[in-house]
Amino acid sequence: MIEPLIDTFGRVHNNLRISVTDRCNIRCFYCMPAGDVQFMNRRELLTFEEIERFVRIVVPMGVNKIRLTGGEPLVRKDLHLLVEKIAAIPGVKDIGVTTNGILFAEQAQALWDAGLRRVNISLDALDPVRFQEITRREGYEKVIEAIHAAKRVGFDPVKVNAVSIRGMTEDQIVPFGHFARETGAEIRFIEFMPLDADNAWEREKVLFASEIIERLSAEIMPLVPIGDHDPHAPASEFQFADGVGRIGFIASVSQPFCMQCNRFRITADGKVRNCLFSLEETDIKSMLRGGVPDEEIAAAVRASITAKKEGHEINTARFIQPDRPMYSIGG
Ligand code: SAM
Ligand code: SF4
Repeated sequence: MIEPLIDTFGRVHNNLRISVTDRCNIRCFYCMPAGDVQFMNRRELLTFEEIERFVRIVVPMGVNKIRLTGGEPLVRKDLHLLVEKIAAIPGVKDIGVTTNGILFAEQAQALWDAGLRRVNISLDALDPVRFQEITRREGYEKVIEAIHAAKRVGFDPVKVNAVSIRGMTEDQIVPFGHFARETGAEIRFIEFMPLDADNAWEREKVLFASEIIERLSAEIMPLVPIGDHDPHAPASEFQFADGVGRIGFIASVSQPFCMQCNRFRITADGKVRNCLFSLEETDIKSMLRGGVPDEEIAAAVRASITAKKEGHEINTARFIQPDRPMYSIGG
């Protein structure tokens, strides 16, 4: 193995998120704009072969966890073929996908057969009307079906990502608690982050993890922390006191976990970003398409990691929202 990807704060980066498209089949208000969306030209997207080459370059530097995301990764044609290519790379231990679930049930078996083992399905409300308000599209039943299909096919754990927004999703907290207990899916409440295309994020709209813990503990039963989980995982994990139902919290705003961060990203158009909130990126696509040798690409990735800042600064007056929204970066 070549020297690992360590930044100036000693954080080792073994976790790569790959965005495969910025396109999406729904329009969550906290991510996409309300009006017309200008998507990347398809020629700008890295091909599966380019992505595979990039993964082969970074794996010897210690990258062993890969997650496919977007936009909606399942709208990228034949995604299972990319999973197959990545799964065949020696050193890759774990491949996951984050999806809105609309197309998951129909692709679940092919993805599993290709080597995918982890799935996070995004669902912010357990109610079709509320779902449509948030996503500006229909599809609630398909997402519920996706969660059941994931269990049936064998994905374990199946995680459900629910963005929590003050003034909007408070009444979904307890239903999600019961849903976790009934289905065995782990619900992960994610604090609303300033990465929305409409620039409508305000601190007042962030529904804090601590309030959700309080509500679930009072209305269902106490939540107790689970001690033995990966210290680099962004979610702090809990279970109900009787051991039935797991709940995680990604408290990026109220309890930033930047000092434990082990991840970096490559966007669908081939830009490496060392943080969701970074204002700079490294153009790997031009290198991949410009005949640049692997060693130089590896050096560019290393330089990006070295330049990683201490944290995201959302809670300071210095914070600047990146000009790329979530769907364009790859969440
Ligand atoms: N389309 C897929 C999906 O929705 O799961 C993958 C991409 S999406 C950008 C990845 C995750 O980011 C989703 O769970 C989504 O809910 C979350 N997300 C998007 N915008 C967000 C925001 N402004 N704050 C917090 N989470 C956000
Ligand atoms: Fe699409 Fe995911 Fe963004 Fe929702 S969060 S608009 S599903 S990319």
